[in-house]
Amino acid sequence: MTQEEVLAIFKESGALLEGHFRLTSGLHSGRYLQCALVLQHPGHAAALGSALAARMLEHAARPAVVIAPALGGILVAHEVARALGVRALFAERQDGVLMLRRGFRIDPGEACFVVEDVVTTGGSTRETMEVARQAGGIVTAAGALIDRSGGRTDLGVPTLALAVLNVPNYAPEGCPMCRAGNPVVKPGSR
Ligand SMILES: [Zn+2]
Repeated sequence: MTQEEVLAIFKESGALLEGHFRLTSGLHSGRYLQCALVLQHPGHAAALGSALAARMLEHAARPAVVIAPALGGILVAHEVARALGVRALFAERQDGVLMLRRGFRIDPGEACFVVEDVVTTGGSTRETMEVARQAGGIVTAAGALIDRSGGRTDLGVPTLALAVLNVPNYAPEGCPMCRAGNPVVKPGSR
C-alpha cells in the first residue's frame, strides 16, 4: 500500500481534520488525524493493519506479541496481530501510569512489536515500549499508521509507518493560532 493510497483512505473517511487542535502530547496543531473515522470501517482497518505488519516484517522477525497504548492503538494492534497470527495486547493508564491490566502478560524474552495509530512525538510509543520491557518483552520494532513527525522520531528500534507527514506542532506559548485568538479544541471530546 503506497503513502498516497493510505492518505486517500484517510481523506475519504473524513479523518484528516483542519482547525486548531490540542494533541495528546499537549502540543497544538492546525491538523488532526482522527483515525477512529478510518478504523470504523473494518475493511480499512484490516487492510492497513496487514500493510503495516508486512512493512514491519521487512525489518524484524515475526514477534510473539503486538502491543499498543489504549485507546487509539487497540484496533491497530489487533489488526497487525491478526495479519501476523500472534497475540494483541494493550496498555492503559491507571492513576496516570501506563501499565498492563486485565491479566495481560508477556513471557520473558518474547519479541514485541509496539504500534500506534499516529505518532506525533513518539511519547506514547516510548512509554508502551517501556511497559513491554518491564513485563519481560524485547521490543524489536515500532510502527504507526501515520507518522506526523516527518520521520524525525528516533525510538531506538526500526520504526515504520504507512505514511509520513510533516505537520507543524506548536508549544501553546508559541502557537500562532492561539496568538490569533482561535479557541483550541481537544479532538475526540465531542
Ligand atoms: Zn494553539
